[in-house]
Amino acid sequence: MSSGAEVTCSEVHRTYQMGRQSRLRRLLGRERSVPEVNAIDGVSIEVGRGEFVGLAGPSGSGKTTLLHLIAGLETPTAGTVTVDGVRLDELSSRERTRFRLDTVGVVFQRFHLLGSLSARANVALPLLERGEPKARRRERAANLLEQVGLGDRLAHRPGQLSGGERQRVAVARALATDPSLVVADEPTGELDSETADRVLDALAAVTADRTVVLASHDDRALDRTDRVIELTDAERTRAVPTTDAV
Ligand code: ADP
Ligand code: MG
Repeated sequence: MSSGAEVTCSEVHRTYQMGRQSRLRRLLGRERSVPEVNAIDGVSIEVGRGEFVGLAGPSGSGKTTLLHLIAGLETPTAGTVTVDGVRLDELSSRERTRFRLDTVGVVFQRFHLLGSLSARANVALPLLERGEPKARRRERAANLLEQVGLGDRLAHRPGQLSGGERQRVAVARALATDPSLVVADEPTGELDSETADRVLDALAAVTADRTVVLASHDDRALDRTDRVIELTDAERTRAVPTTDAV
């Protein structure tokens, strides 16, 4: 098993622009002001190898944005994101895709499973992307589903599973590529507490000494972590200075 990754974010900002300029306006130098949202505004965190860290904070405080940056799903507007010595903010999009496939597993709040595939095929999908042979994919997927308590649900499609079971399939899928870093975004947000506990048990069972960052505002989930990082509400929407000459 791989051991955990080391994660460092330094003075990270991520801004989103709301709405777009038309090309014509830009060509004419008549840009309108476009409101910007600071999703996160100068966040610095360090997560050690094998740590299980909780990311807390009210809705809108930037938890999802920060997870996406750590997972290489997005790039910061400013600041640096480093995972195991690799500066993610300096990678090309092709290099980031490779990084994700090799290093990160992601669990989303809403499962993101493919409805037409069996649980086993869903879990095996990242391995298909990585070009691994079929026998190995099938074996690894069955093994992981066994570990999350779904050994008797291999052929079930997501629509035939309960919410908690779907999320355990998603947990298994996140581990398919043997990642050293796992990020989970409110994985129990849609589940009742008993079901949530089983999902968290499954997550703990398969992540062992890997690095895990879990965003949640559920105290029961946060209680399981080694340490909680609290994001406060960032400065919200502000307008960019206008160059509108019209
Ligand atoms: P959390 O996960 O803590 O609820 P998010 O990271 O989803 O917070 O969002 C932080 C802030 O950034 C929110 O105000 C949200 O509306 C804004 N935001 C997030 N993603 C986008 C986006 N793609 N475009 C515009 N604004 C966004
Ligand atoms: Mg979120």
